[in-house]
Amino acid sequence: MPKIVSNSVIVQSAPDAARRGRRLTTYYCVCGEYVLILDTRLSNVPTRRTDGARVLVNAKRKYKLNVQEAGRPVYLKRENGVEKQYRFCCTRCKLVVAYQVESPVVREDRYTYVVNGAVSEDQDLDA
Ligand SMILES: [Zn+2]
Repeated sequence: MPKIVSNSVIVQSAPDAARRGRRLTTYYCVCGEYVLILDTRLSNVPTRRTDGARVLVNAKRKYKLNVQEAGRPVYLKRENGVEKQYRFCCTRCKLVVAYQVESPVVREDRYTYVVNGAVSEDQDLDA
C-alpha cells in the first residue's frame, strides 16, 4: 500500500547519502576572489562562541583555503587570558578571512577559524 512505500528506507537514506558525497561549496571574499572550497557548507560546521567564527576541524574536514599570511600575529584579550591569532587574508583585497591560534601554517593546527561574515557563497556582492 502507499503508506508502506513512503516509509521505505531507500527513500529516507538517499538524500543523506548524497549529502555525504563529495559535494563541494565554494566561498568568496567580498571582493569576489575565491577563498575557500569546503567539503560541506559553513552552516554545517560548528560556530565558535567567542566571536562567531566557523570552526573547521582539520582532522575531519577536507578543504582548500586560497589565502596568504596577514603579517604578524595579533594578540587579543579574551575572558580567560590572551589569544594569539595567526591571521590569513584574501590574496586580492587583504581582508582577513581566517585565523588559527596555535600554528601560523594553514591546516597545521587543530582548528582553522573562518571569520564570521567574511566569506559568502555569492561571488558578486559589490554588484
Ligand atoms: Zn578579497
